[in-house]
Amino acid sequence: MTQASPFPVADCLLKDDAMVFVETEDVRTTPRSRLTPHRRLKVWEKTCGRCVVCHQQIDGVRERWIVEHIRALELGGRDEHDNMGPVHANCAAAKTRDGYQCAAKAKRQKLRHLGADISKRPLPCGRQSRWKKKIDGTIVPRR
Ligand SMILES: [Zn+2]
Repeated sequence: MTQASPFPVADCLLKDDAMVFVETEDVRTTPRSRLTPHRRLKVWEKTCGRCVVCHQQIDGVRERWIVEHIRALELGGRDEHDNMGPVHANCAAAKTRDGYQCAAKAKRQKLRHLGADISKRPLPCGRQSRWKKKIDGTIVPRR
């Protein structure tokens, strides 16, 4: 499963010896809209009833199936027709379980990247510590 960067990236590109600042959009959880039976049918017909996870034909009469977001909403997937597909209920359970792990990892990375994640145990004599170690080895209080 390919995964785009979960946090905003400010890239500096070298162009004609000048640094160009490029700011990309933040990835947020997409709000979920209600799915009407008509929209469910449209999603079904898009793949002719083929599961987007295991790629096998779904027997709509005998098997339980749901409409799944191909790219999870938590990972910035769009709540639109082209990001949806029918899946077996069992396949969806497995995909959702993996999706939660991906989303949790993305949130951890975003917290760390934005500096919102403050360590409870800062490195000894590190930037967050009350003490600093000088080059000669002496430890002095940080002012
Ligand atoms: Zn399936």
